[in-house]
Amino acid sequence: MTHSNTFQDWKTKALKIQPLGLAYINGQYQPAISNQKFDAFSPRDGQKLAEITSCQTEDVNLAVNAARQAFKNGIWSRTSAKQRKQVLLKFADLIEQHSQELALLESLEMGMTISDSVNMNLPGAIECMRWFAELADKRYDEIAPTSPNAITRIHRVPVGVVAAIVPWNYPLMMACWKIAPALATGNSVILKPAEQSSLTAIKLGELSKLAGIPDGVFNVLPGPGHITGKALGLHMDVDAIAFTGSTDVGKLFMQYSGQSNLKRISLECGGKTPNIVLADCDNLDAAADAIVLGAFGNQGQICNAGSRLIVERSIRDQLIEKILAKAKTEKPGDPLDPQSKLGPLVDESQLSRVIGYIDVGKQQGATLLCGGERITPVDGGSYLQPAIFDQVSPEMSIAKEEIFGPVLSVITVDNIDQAIEVANNTIYGLGAAVWTINLKKMERVAAEVQAGVIWVNSHDHGDISSPVGGFKQSGFGRDKSIHAMEKYTEYKTVWINLAD
Ligand code: NAD
Repeated sequence: MTHSNTFQDWKTKALKIQPLGLAYINGQYQPAISNQKFDAFSPRDGQKLAEITSCQTEDVNLAVNAARQAFKNGIWSRTSAKQRKQVLLKFADLIEQHSQELALLESLEMGMTISDSVNMNLPGAIECMRWFAELADKRYDEIAPTSPNAITRIHRVPVGVVAAIVPWNYPLMMACWKIAPALATGNSVILKPAEQSSLTAIKLGELSKLAGIPDGVFNVLPGPGHITGKALGLHMDVDAIAFTGSTDVGKLFMQYSGQSNLKRISLECGGKTPNIVLADCDNLDAAADAIVLGAFGNQGQICNAGSRLIVERSIRDQLIEKILAKAKTEKPGDPLDPQSKLGPLVDESQLSRVIGYIDVGKQQGATLLCGGERITPVDGGSYLQPAIFDQVSPEMSIAKEEIFGPVLSVITVDNIDQAIEVANNTIYGLGAAVWTINLKKMERVAAEVQAGVIWVNSHDHGDISSPVGGFKQSGFGRDKSIHAMEKYTEYKTVWINLAD
């Protein structure tokens, strides 16, 4: 996707945009029954963007009922896979046709730079929708090798009503990672966006209708997590929750399931990704570039943010020098400026949380090499200069806990054994990167570091065909790839007795 909008063009568009703040239930936009609302503010300048309806338990009941009726009447769940494919391909085309508006909403609402939104997030979301649309009619069921006296078919059938609970850091892409495979496999879906990023999800309602997704099959419920999300988690007629968000809230969904109907839960939770740079790394410049981008891209609000640098002592000074030189060029700016590489944090509360971690880092004895202070490229916005801490020991909070902001912690080690031990010294296990030209060492890290993805001589590379998900408290289940289909389908065995 290309665009030639200037900074001024985006600012003019931003002044004109009138975001819709309603729920989308059973094919209609509507306010919450209680008419409760909450305000959405832009972290770009602190200005109010929209009033958004706040769905309560009764709205959740309405949406679940609509989703269930649609599932039962088979208008989507029992239509041909080819038909679902065609509708979802149209859905993808419509997202592409509206990508400028969607990118602008996303940038205004959560502060992602317009360049990232236009060049990365929107294309990622569209590609995901197309990929799962295409997969819909290319899967076969199985026949088990039982005795000739029976035919035993093993089908993959849709789970039923799926609630997709998503975070704010890549609003559209996170939503599409869930709704594309869930819809492709014939489920009815309720999308619950994060409070900080409801607007693009709401827009998807209209586009889904234009694409031909039948009423009730796709619903969008904005609202607070502890009300709307909880009501979905506890609902007796929701069959599966596909969750992306923090580990703490992921644990709550496990409880909601246990307290209600044992609905299936899949969790894509937090991370504390290490970049392990071994002494034989042959391209420290490439490593430095990837480390800075990985730690500070999207203002560090990435589940796979490379927030820990674990480096062998003999090369640490050289590498840190390169990283500092690169980091100096990373200045947050107005997210609507196509030249800005970084924008604001998502809101004031996230900014305070990150500054709190920076204070803890200093108190616990780490050395702040650069950044860490609030800046104001745009008045009223929530901007932070990315921070780098040296002399971080593995037990410090900034070495172990997910900060979800632009803070890089440098931990120095003496050998690969220590590097692996430090890498595993966290509750998380989402991703890990190793930089080395030694095949045995890369294989050792790949085998011994507990993480869903191991990158060798790169960080956070990916493709829609390769799965994303975690070990340990980073969760379970996988987004993207053919394996995502597993979360949205159940095995059903049909045993046909042929014996006389
Ligand atoms: P969050 O856990 O606060 O919120 C996620 C979703 O859960 C939101 O829709 C929110 O409204 C809802 N929610 C919040 N409290 C709830 C409650 N009590 N009951 C039910 N629902 C509730 O996470 P966030 O701040 O939106 O996102 C940041 C987190 O997401 C980070 O931890 C990040 O690592 C994680 N994340 C993980 C991945 C991955 O692929 N593993 C991808 C992106 C983000």
